[in-house]
Amino acid sequence: MSKEKTEAELLKEKLCLKKDHFDERFGEETAKADEFCAGYMEFLGTAKTERECNAYIIEKAKKNGFTAFDRTKSYKPSDKVYYDNRGKAVILAVMGKKGVTEGAKIVASHIDSPRLDLKPTPLYEDNELAYFKTHYYGGLRKYQWGAIPLSLHGVLVRSDGTSITVSLGEKPGEPKFVVTDLLPHLAKEQSKRTLSEGLKGEELNILIGSRPFKSDSGSELVKLNILKLLNEKYGIIEEDFISAELELVPAFTVDSVGFDESLIGGYGHDDRVCAYPAFEALFSLTDAPEHTAVAVLADKEEIGSDGNTGLNSSYLKYFIADLAALDNMEGRHALSKSECLSADVNAGFDPTFASVHDKNNAAFLNHGVVVTKYTGARGKSGTSDASAEFVGKVRKILNDASVCWQTGEMGKVDEGGGGTVAMYIANLDVNVVDLGVPVLSMHSPYEIVAKADVYSTYRACEAFYKSI
Ligand code: MN
Ligand code: MN
Repeated sequence: MSKEKTEAELLKEKLCLKKDHFDERFGEETAKADEFCAGYMEFLGTAKTERECNAYIIEKAKKNGFTAFDRTKSYKPSDKVYYDNRGKAVILAVMGKKGVTEGAKIVASHIDSPRLDLKPTPLYEDNELAYFKTHYYGGLRKYQWGAIPLSLHGVLVRSDGTSITVSLGEKPGEPKFVVTDLLPHLAKEQSKRTLSEGLKGEELNILIGSRPFKSDSGSELVKLNILKLLNEKYGIIEEDFISAELELVPAFTVDSVGFDESLIGGYGHDDRVCAYPAFEALFSLTDAPEHTAVAVLADKEEIGSDGNTGLNSSYLKYFIADLAALDNMEGRHALSKSECLSADVNAGFDPTFASVHDKNNAAFLNHGVVVTKYTGARGKSGTSDASAEFVGKVRKILNDASVCWQTGEMGKVDEGGGGTVAMYIANLDVNVVDLGVPVLSMHSPYEIVAKADVYSTYRACEAFYKSI
């Protein structure tokens, strides 16, 4: 026997903002979300650096019928192309019925994550132990990177110009690396440091060996032994580290978290958790979309998007200009009419640290993809504040497609802040709004997301690509 709703209940239903939990309104899609996330977890565990993501995405794109973009060719609706920016960033596009004459639908995410990079002269020996010196990349909390297993990834270019790709510490049986930390027994002074100095930048030294080269005498024989092993394995000498990009990342596996397995724990959700939905939604387009659909998988977001593989450079602008030339129009006219979802993660509400959030304006796990009108810090500095009109349009797209979504700000006013690629794309005269997955422990070696939110982000990208 159902009780009749009171007048207040009816009015609430009509007027108040609904904060839907995924399971309430979209519960029947849970199996689909789990299935989608199985693919995502495989990707996250396989591609742990921007270069590995680039290779993974291009290989998968080729399997889905994408070919290398050639601006001298002509393309027809539903043709699929990819643009490889120096092995570290990718643009994928599916040609629309109208090309870019009325603009493109762009989803931009990034495939770099916070990590420890090797310095140009990294190798040294100290008291019979061998180490690599590092320089951290991105906004990481240094104290979190001690005493956890790390793996080494990247490339070295040798003096003859040939290069070698390295991935060591991921497969079972492979050696791992580590930043050591003090034992509590002797950490009395270290424990008085502020958290941000728990481990200092110059203390993020990677332990890489301890066995000396067998010899009657000599100094630095542990270092020499490491060089000998590296020379045997990779054919490199010490100078080759100068022309290298070697990155240490957590050697953790990607797994479901919780008895209910509703969450995913892993390294680098930021921002592969948006990149994966962005390219998978593009791959899923079976018919030509109305407008050319573009997925941008960028590098360098974590250090401010500068550099020629970051979105503060011109490669997206040039790519859209090349598409526009195919339609006999100026690139800037195509950009002015283009629309973009800046797909990046946001802070999920963490009950343990509730005080940093404004609960009315925070994003909650399992409440779907987060639409964020502006990011930035202090008085909205360093952001693209999306227009009411464009947020209204995106809101309608999501509602019409029955996507589970919510809105959320990155913490309380003046609590801190952060930026995304949104402003760099907005500065090209494109309509942009931020959208993405809420994350717990963001930028830590082991970040947490909810499967329902990853799937909702996929549904959002799909609806946006298809929008008019
Ligand atoms: Mn990000
Ligand atoms: Mn980030």
